[in-house]
Amino acid sequence: MRKFNIELKDKKIPVLLGEGIFGKITSEIEKRKLNRNILLITDSNVNRLYRKKVENAFSSFKGKFNLLTLRPGENTKSQENLNKIYSFLLKKKYSRDTLIIALGGGVIGDLAGFAAATFMRGVKYIQVPTTLLAVSDSAIGGKTGINFNGIKNIIGAFYQPEFVLADLEFIKTLPDKEVLCGTGEILKYAYLSDRAFYRFIEDNAEKLLKKDPAVVEKAAAKSVSIKTSIVSEDEKEGGKRKILNLGHTFAHAYESVLEYKIKHGEAVIAGLACALILSRRLGCMNEEKFMALSGMLKKFHPGIKFNKLKLNVLFKAMLSDKKNRDGKIRFVLLEDVGKVLTDVEAGRKDVLLTLKEAGEFFSR
Ligand code: ADP
Ligand code: ZN
Repeated sequence: MRKFNIELKDKKIPVLLGEGIFGKITSEIEKRKLNRNILLITDSNVNRLYRKKVENAFSSFKGKFNLLTLRPGENTKSQENLNKIYSFLLKKKYSRDTLIIALGGGVIGDLAGFAAATFMRGVKYIQVPTTLLAVSDSAIGGKTGINFNGIKNIIGAFYQPEFVLADLEFIKTLPDKEVLCGTGEILKYAYLSDRAFYRFIEDNAEKLLKKDPAVVEKAAAKSVSIKTSIVSEDEKEGGKRKILNLGHTFAHAYESVLEYKIKHGEAVIAGLACALILSRRLGCMNEEKFMALSGMLKKFHPGIKFNKLKLNVLFKAMLSDKKNRDGKIRFVLLEDVGKVLTDVEAGRKDVLLTLKEAGEFFSR
């Protein structure tokens, strides 16, 4: 088992990563004196696959233990489900000494984390990510929230878990499409990191998509190590954490225009291509570098029908992104692997041409 830490001013949040470590959850809880009344929140897919495992792990747990199973999918991140969690907690007489466990992908992590942040002004919680995307990215960093009025993550809070326990054994049952989504964020970390990791991902793209355990382990561990160190420097996205938005301004536009019928990770893959294209267009990166760094993305084709997209509609969606309040669009761009530029403004023409080129990029 590997251990990474998010080092905050007043708190250290361990991220435990390994294969077959879920059984250690109760001892980790005890070790940290978190013995409380537990509510474990999951979705029905994870429940179907892992209910036995959960029951075994908590069989000798003393104290209240309940399991709340929600429907899978992005729509679950709603006010209704948040109310369902609060109602359940009150009905079962949970109080301030509650420990919420989020067992699932990003959807469950964000929703259960926000419930923990708000129930009785905040109760303790643990993230147990079960998707590649959640392990490598979303379970780490304390972003919690729900969607509202069709806008993703518009209501939320920064609220850190007591620890993150990432058991890579869960990844073995993950459907191919979800693996592809997870690689979206891993590719982002490859661009943000260093040549060696970038080369590793480039060389092992097929193995990663096939869930080769050694490749998944290395890819997840490096992503976790980068994310924990960035969040340690900048917990609430005032500075350094901005680089984690590489590809995301474009990704959010694809997601919103396609009404969230594509998954975040797929949108990130398309968004990364856009970020590289715009970097070249604005002269941050030359043609040769662009060719060297963009080829890898074609191995991870996102399921987007680019020719059906209206470019000006995408552009409008980017203007209304919650990070672009003053009508200007700022991008995170790349000069090279590990050389990141933040707050680069680009005009309408360059953005539209970038979106056009991105469509062609994936159809070539
Ligand atoms: P993300 O982590 O990408 O935000 P979700 O929380 O929406 O994703 O989970 C993606 C899908 O994968 C959901 O349908 C969920 O039920 C399912 N899922 C989560 N973890 C596993 C797993 N370990 N094995 C199989 N399916 C899983
Ligand atoms: Zn993301």
